[in-house]
Amino acid sequence: MDLRPHHAMCIQKYTGHGYDESFTRHMDRVVARLASEPDTLVRVVFGSDELCTACPNNVSGSCATLAKVEAMDDAAARIMGLRPGEEAAWSELKDRAGRLILAGPEFEKICKNCQWYELCLTTHTDFL
Ligand code: SF4
Repeated sequence: MDLRPHHAMCIQKYTGHGYDESFTRHMDRVVARLASEPDTLVRVVFGSDELCTACPNNVSGSCATLAKVEAMDDAAARIMGLRPGEEAAWSELKDRAGRLILAGPEFEKICKNCQWYELCLTTHTDFL
């Protein structure tokens, strides 16, 4: 499964809210799969990924909010020590994102300008 670096955080904070119905149903399936199969191999990409495939902001393979997501991807990758094309088990990415970003001050630095930030501050997916 291809994932952008910052989506390792979004997946852990997901509680059923998304951009539209199609995106949310797809996100439900991805989160359920990763929860039941934590060894799923993830390839780190800095472009359209598994979550983007069902997103209304995906315009011909490019994100309509590209500047924002590129900044989040770059910061998340730097802190998590990820390189383009690197492969790792979802459980490893989840651990790095949780420990190095979501549990500390980097969370606010990276996510404060995201529309979901206030929601993510108060929620955490408890079935992952
Ligand atoms: S297309 Fe953009 S907004 Fe949609 S999931 Fe991908 S990075 Fe996020």
